[in-house]
Amino acid sequence: MTIWLLASWLILPSVTQAQVRVPEIADPSLPDIAMVRPDPTHGAVIIYNPIYCQQIGQACGFFRAHEYGHVVLGHHLRHPAHYPAHREAEADCWAAHHAHPYETLAAYRLFVSGHSSPDWQIYGPPQVRAERVRQCAIQAGRWVGP
Ligand SMILES: [Zn+2]
Repeated sequence: MTIWLLASWLILPSVTQAQVRVPEIADPSLPDIAMVRPDPTHGAVIIYNPIYCQQIGQACGFFRAHEYGHVVLGHHLRHPAHYPAHREAEADCWAAHHAHPYETLAAYRLFVSGHSSPDWQIYGPPQVRAERVRQCAIQAGRWVGP
């Protein structure tokens, strides 16, 4: 798990294809896997919890891509608490198009097993989120799972 995490974090897989790079800051006190916030210097910064990321392994790359999706789509210009559900769905779909296919599959398995954000009103139930991510990856021709 740890090796995969380091790999996905260090080789900066397909997210760089979007040609958007923002600083990524590790914060073990973040009460979530990752989030994005506006930044006066860089436009946005992505903050991630390295402990959660270690726990979920390769799936962390998907969440990282999800945050990049918010940046690319301009969602970060609003407070995260104000992201409507469809923006989260958009970010998930963007991630399914741009994350490494195995990172997307790892996140899918995480959702299928019932893990997701506790805020179901925003992200939808984990099973629904799993299927949404799967459909987006199929659409993009990047689905490697069942
Ligand atoms: Zn999000």
